[in-house]
Amino acid sequence: MEKKNGKPILKDSAEKRETITNATTTTTTNTSLSSTFLREFDSLETKNNEKPISGIIPTTETNEESIVPDSDLVVDNESNGNNDRPKLNKECLNSYNDEILSSSASNRSNTTSSNETTRVNKRKKAISKTLANIERTMKVDLCYVLDCTGSMSNHIAAAKDCILQVMEYINNTNPCIRVQFGFCGYRDHCDIYNNSRLQVFDFTNSYQEFRNNLSTVPADGGGDFPEDVLGGLDAAITKMTWRGGTRVILHIGDAPPHGRRFYYGDDKYPDGDPYGLTAESVLEKMQLNEIHYFFGKITPETDTMIQVFRSIIGEFPVFDLLGGDPIDLIKKFVGATISSIATSVTLTSSLGSKIKSTNSSKQRRDLNPEVPNWDYLPYQKGVILGYNMPETLNKLKDQRYFKKENLYSEEFYFKIAPHPFSAGIEKYAYFAINTTSDPLQKMVMKEYSQDKSENPFEKYLEAVEISTVAGYLSNEFNSIARKKKIPLVNFLEAKVVRAFIDNETRYYVTESELNSKFKRFNANSGIIIEFHPALEAFAHFTYVYTKGYLMICDLQGIELTNSFLLTDPAIHCIDPMRFGRTNLGKKGIKKRFLANHKCNDVCRKLGIAKFRRAKFFCCS
Ligand SMILES: [Zn+2]
Repeated sequence: MEKKNGKPILKDSAEKRETITNATTTTTTNTSLSSTFLREFDSLETKNNEKPISGIIPTTETNEESIVPDSDLVVDNESNGNNDRPKLNKECLNSYNDEILSSSASNRSNTTSSNETTRVNKRKKAISKTLANIERTMKVDLCYVLDCTGSMSNHIAAAKDCILQVMEYINNTNPCIRVQFGFCGYRDHCDIYNNSRLQVFDFTNSYQEFRNNLSTVPADGGGDFPEDVLGGLDAAITKMTWRGGTRVILHIGDAPPHGRRFYYGDDKYPDGDPYGLTAESVLEKMQLNEIHYFFGKITPETDTMIQVFRSIIGEFPVFDLLGGDPIDLIKKFVGATISSIATSVTLTSSLGSKIKSTNSSKQRRDLNPEVPNWDYLPYQKGVILGYNMPETLNKLKDQRYFKKENLYSEEFYFKIAPHPFSAGIEKYAYFAINTTSDPLQKMVMKEYSQDKSENPFEKYLEAVEISTVAGYLSNEFNSIARKKKIPLVNFLEAKVVRAFIDNETRYYVTESELNSKFKRFNANSGIIIEFHPALEAFAHFTYVYTKGYLMICDLQGIELTNSFLLTDPAIHCIDPMRFGRTNLGKKGIKKRFLANHKCNDVCRKLGIAKFRRAKFFCCS
């Protein structure tokens, strides 16, 4: 089984040390958080127990069958929200500087109301563009590239038999996604009879057609040990009709490509592909076509190939597809296929057209994934800043609460690694330790990677504001969840650190380290990557509890026994000027969450179950 941590081609949320998507182990239980950290949560829980169940949550259950009418999806206090919206303050506007750079020639300190309107309109336009992009990414082309030589009959059968289950699962959890399936089987250069070296079937959305196509694919051929892997991948890239906004290759094989670079045993083509294909030429073509690559591993014989491919396109998930039991193998295929689709849609929608440039190393800081030897690193002194938890929901909804005057600050002594261990789309992540805690508290400190002019202090504060809002709502959720025996949803508390390092003032968002298998459960595009009733119900709860003002999504972190510990969520809010660029506004709530959400048992226990999926909203 492949244990190596990996990420897809694109390093989404890499700062959180995303781990491999493993088709066979979808749940992880780990309690290796530092004791300091757990104590922090113990005290939170004691506090929560004293809170009464909020009256906002209806106590009577609504019949799930009563489909929510259109009017129900309209936020009931939206007009209040707009009326109450404070005048946009400088902090809020500054955090969108990069988005509005083109119009920021005007004097920022002289913010007039017309400037505010312009900025709000620009923000709304940017949201619409993002939403349109997300809808485009919901159309998925997935091509299986499969080794079809003698040893692979079980795997060909599994590919054929998994599709129906995959389609049913996608329809249930992510009805907005439309998948077309294609197939490219490869053998070896000696398999010239009936042109059987390659068998290509273009994309279809018909389950029956896909099955019929695969019925004509026998497992035979193959001469020496390596196979025509590069020819198979090249055919998939160039001969299939790729049209989808999200493009996926799930490659499955038990033998390496030809060439000494991949294999040292019996090989008729030790110098590599006789047609001149190289791993570089094929994989670069794949990236140019914006195709995400995933590999299903059957034997260790492909380990060198995985290494070579990763050196060219960066990390990608490797699924364990070893198995003699056909039923078990189908399950693994279903898991791998669903994971490939959900991960690719999420990456494509959060990256847009940045696919090709993500792996480029220009202007990148050197990464070091090792924890440094803290003894050799200097102590740093800084100030840690956070917001006091608002006392009421109204304060939470009032942006005036989140201003610099309401920050608390403490002296903070720490050590930080000289190099980041990971680089995400927006941020670098560093190992750090809080040297004043006993025992030493392991931290992660994140720094925005762009110029400081595009990442003002306000952007750091925004992360803390999101964390505070998430913390407040998780407290409210948990006080009910405890009584109803529902898994708890906790968030790591994010704070800003300001310190003077290397002769300049630097800012970081900091939080405790999660030293367990980090997973993304759902995304702000509404895609559910790994379904957990409690998490989907939590998102729904935040919408109901705030009376439609906001909802928390992009839930990611770790699963513990009867609870989740999450970090770095996104918030869709009817005020488009709050909560950063992942806020997709009222439309985000409606189209990307409500349209996708189907109330589950946890929603029913919370007394908020009322949504049967409103299909008419889906990707309309
Ligand atoms: Zn629900």
